[in-house]
Amino acid sequence: MGQIIKKVLIANRGEIACRVIHTCQEMGIKTVAIYTEGEESALHVQTADEGFCLGSGPLSETYLNKQKILDIAKQTKSTAIHPGYGFLSENADFCELVEKNKIIFIGPKSEHIQLMGDKITSKKKMMEIGVPVIPGYQGSDQESETLKKHANIIGFPVLIKATAGGGGKGMRIVEKEENFFQELEAAKREAQSSFGNDHVLIEKYITKPRHIEVQVMSDTHGNHLHFYERECSIQRRYQKIVEETPSVAFGDELRHQICETAALITKEINYRGAGTVEFILDTDDRFYFLEMNTRLQVEHPITELVTGADLVHHQIIVAKGEKLPLTQNEITQRGHAIEVRIYAEDPANNFFPTTGEVQYVGKGRRPGVRLDTGIKSGDMVGVSFDPMVAKLITYAPNRTQCTEKMKKAIVDFPFLGLKTNREYLINVLDNENFVKGNTYTNFVAENKELQDSANTSVELAQVALAHLMSSKNYTNQSAQSSSSDNGIEDFSGFRNQHL
Ligand code: ADP
Ligand code: ADP
Ligand code: MG
Repeated sequence: MGQIIKKVLIANRGEIACRVIHTCQEMGIKTVAIYTEGEESALHVQTADEGFCLGSGPLSETYLNKQKILDIAKQTKSTAIHPGYGFLSENADFCELVEKNKIIFIGPKSEHIQLMGDKITSKKKMMEIGVPVIPGYQGSDQESETLKKHANIIGFPVLIKATAGGGGKGMRIVEKEENFFQELEAAKREAQSSFGNDHVLIEKYITKPRHIEVQVMSDTHGNHLHFYERECSIQRRYQKIVEETPSVAFGDELRHQICETAALITKEINYRGAGTVEFILDTDDRFYFLEMNTRLQVEHPITELVTGADLVHHQIIVAKGEKLPLTQNEITQRGHAIEVRIYAEDPANNFFPTTGEVQYVGKGRRPGVRLDTGIKSGDMVGVSFDPMVAKLITYAPNRTQCTEKMKKAIVDFPFLGLKTNREYLINVLDNENFVKGNTYTNFVAENKELQDSANTSVELAQVALAHLMSSKNYTNQSAQSSSSDNGIEDFSGFRNQHL
C-alpha cells in the first residue's frame, strides 16, 4: 500500500502551478499555492484551495527560499510538495530537506537530481553504461590553457557549456581558435552569475542537429517506461519555442532505439518519477545523450495529447509509492500534437521581452486545442519572471492538419494589450522548411526574415478582437457545455519562473 497524499503544496507559480492544481483537483487532493506580494489575485492563487504569501524581495527570499516553503508546507499540513519546473525543481538540497521532514517530494530522489543536474557527472555516467555522448572534454582541470588544448583536440567549432547549466545559460559557440579565450570568459561569467559555479565542459559543436527528447516515467516497483519522443528543434537562444510529436526525423526503428535508450538510462540509475532524456540527432542519424531533466517539462502537454496520459497524475501515483497503472505496450502514439510557447517579446527586436498590462486573454477553447496559461485579463507582465505568457497546444490526426489547426488557434487566441511572438510563430509554421520537416536547431538563425515580418501585432490583435465580438453570443449559448469540449481541458498556466 502506498502513502496517502491529501494536500499538495505547489512550489511554483503561473501556468505550471495551475496545471498541477487541476490534476490534484481531479484526484480529490487539496492544494496550497504560494505567491509573492502583488500576486494575491494571480490565477494560480485563485485556483488553489489555499494561498500563502512568501513576502517580497529577490527570488532567494521567495520562490527559491527552501526553508520558508518548507515551513508553509508544515503549517498547512501539506503531505507533499510539487516543484513544477524551474525554481527548486532540480535542487537536490531542497528535495532532501523536504523528505527529511517527512513530506513527499513529487519528483526523483535527491541523488538523481545530483547525478543528472551536473552535465559532467551525467555524461560520465552515460559513458559508463554505454550510451553515446557528444565527443568532448569533461575533465576537472579548468585551466584556460588546458581547456583550449582540448578544444583544439576536439576540433572547431566547439561549444562551451556551464556544467551546472540550464535554460541555455552559460553556453557559447566558438567558431575558431582565436576567439576561444574571449568566449570562455563570457561563458564562465554567465555560469557564475546564473548558477554560482563557473565550471565548464567543451563539446564538439554538431552542425545542423535536431533536438529530440524522450519522456520517461519510473515507479518504485521496477517499472521504467517511456512515453515516446518530442522534437524541439525550433529554438531561440537555446530555448524551445515550437515542439511537436511524433518527430518527422525518423521512422519506427530509430524511434524505438532512442526511446528504449532513454528507458534503459532510467533503469540503470534506478530513477523515480517523471523525467526527460534529451538527445541530439545529427544528419547521419546518429544520436547522442545531451542531458536529463529530472522534472516535468514545459512541453509535456504534447506527449499527453498523443499518448492520452496525464503525466502529473502518474507523478502523484509514483510519489505515493504505487505502481504505474500501465505497461510499455499500452503506451502508443496516436495522431500529432504541436505546442507553441507564446512569449511577451518582440521578434523584430531580437526577441527582446515586452512588458505591460494584458488587457484581455481569451479561452482559446476549441476541439483539439488546449491552452495552458496562468495569465488572465488585467494582469501585468513585468520583468521579475519569465516572459512566457501561454502555451497553445493542438492535436489532430496528422502533422498537416495539426499545423493548420495551430495557425488558426494562434490567430483566434485573443491576447490583447501586449506585443507577443504570435505572428512570428505563424511565420514559422508557414515556412517551407517547417512544412517539409526540415527542422534543425539553426532554424531561427537561418530564417531571420521571419522575425522582421513579425510586426503586425496590431492587425492580429484586431482580428482577434473582431472575432471576440462576433462570437459573444455563441460563447454565451455554449457556456454550459464548454468545459467538456472534446474532452480537452482548458488548463491554465503562466510564464515560467526563471530569470
Ligand atoms: P524546458 O524548457 O525544455 O523544460 P529547460 O532546460 O530549458 O527545459 O529548463 C526549463 C526552465 O527552467 C528554463 O527555462 C530554465 O531557465 C530553468 N532552469 C533550468 N535549469 C536551471 C538551473 N539549473 N537553474 C536555474 N534555472 C534553470
Ligand atoms: P540546457 O541545460 O541549457 O538545456 P542543453 O545541453 O540541453 O542545455 O543544450 C541546449 C540546446 O543547445 C540543445 O537543445 C541544442 O539545441 C543545443 N546544443 C547543445 N549541445 C550541442 C552541441 N554539442 N552541438 C550543437 N548544439 C548543441
Ligand atoms: Mg536542455
